[in-house]
Amino acid sequence: MACIVMKFGGTSVADLDRIRNVAQRVKREVDAGNQVAVVVSAMSGVTNQLVKYCTDLDPLHDAREYDAVVATGEQVTSGLLAIELQRLGYNARSWQGWQIPIQTDDAFGKARIDGIDGSALKTSLDAGEIAVVAGFQGIAPGNRVATLGRGGSDTSAVALAAALKAERCDIYTDVDGVYTTDPRIVPKARKLAKISYEEMLELASVGAKVLQTRSVELAMNEGVRVQVLSSFQDIPGTMVVDEDEIVEKQNVSGVAYSRDDAKMTVRRVKDRPGIAATIFGALAEANVNVDMIVQNVGADGTTDMTFTVGKADLPRAHAALAGIKADIGYTDLLEDTDVAKISVVGVGMRSHAGIANTMFRALADKGINIQVISTSEIKVSVLIAAEYTELAVRALHTAYGLDAA
Ligand code: ASP
Ligand code: MG
Repeated sequence: MACIVMKFGGTSVADLDRIRNVAQRVKREVDAGNQVAVVVSAMSGVTNQLVKYCTDLDPLHDAREYDAVVATGEQVTSGLLAIELQRLGYNARSWQGWQIPIQTDDAFGKARIDGIDGSALKTSLDAGEIAVVAGFQGIAPGNRVATLGRGGSDTSAVALAAALKAERCDIYTDVDGVYTTDPRIVPKARKLAKISYEEMLELASVGAKVLQTRSVELAMNEGVRVQVLSSFQDIPGTMVVDEDEIVEKQNVSGVAYSRDDAKMTVRRVKDRPGIAATIFGALAEANVNVDMIVQNVGADGTTDMTFTVGKADLPRAHAALAGIKADIGYTDLLEDTDVAKISVVGVGMRSHAGIANTMFRALADKGINIQVISTSEIKVSVLIAAEYTELAVRALHTAYGLDAA
């Protein structure tokens, strides 16, 4: 008997009709003779509302209480889906993170999974029960509820698939697969039948919102076969696989964008050893992830340090930097939330020169100014003014020959 994990995102469980639809899909897999663990997100919009309650009360709220609040969205959907499956005559039950348990670290609000004891779940599946697991949550040391960061139900699903040694992990969402870019911006975007873990990892980390970054990382490390597919249509999705399973390797497989970052510039800090360590040390301490970084040439013994942080982390980043002003002596702290990060990703970059230049040329031709650049082995990212997001994505999609015929 094959064990499979099915994960349904927020739009797939947005109301009771959609939960009924999900139950039908689960029923199909169970009737086909599979053991099924379902992982559910909160109904769409719910997590945003819960987050807003916390930030409206206090932008610097206690992260443990934030988790106590935001974890409730998934608890609701896990119970509702179990009820519907029972109504259809199936033996189903809900599982919260702590009941399994899914053990996490204590980075509340963006906790990592430390381990899953799948034995109780396995016993339940072996007894013929359908497990409906609340995604996004686990239990941290000290017996506190922890959540896995926005989009974290994907990671719950992949981690469960690894723990249960599931045959595959199907991630049902409101798109029917992974596209070369966002089809809402580029109607000529193409669906990829397969994408490598590494490309998916880069795309997820730069803002393609199909899968949470950590879920891809985990799938890659644990060898979990992940499929991204639609819960509304019966068509094959995109398989995330090892690079050697892909025959036709593109130089660039996808163009992604994100408006989730803010640019910060620390003006005229002293140009001496230890400044970067102090700035980024303080941000790390405050649990703020930093992405792109540039340090400019120093002139009169001072220099500017520019970097990006998640918009949601801006208040925390600001507080952290204010706290070290006396140590590093900057004149201003500039913040710009009107920026977008545009990235091109492809394993072909490893063996081809000129990929970055194609990007810079295409943006220049549209008169788009590049504010910050960063690269990795298979990715080039630029930060631009947010108003040019669509224009840039379209230009790049065309420049790399990705447009559908
Ligand atoms: N409900 C959570 C969120 O919106 C987790 C998830 O949907 O994956 O981020
Ligand atoms: Mg999601």
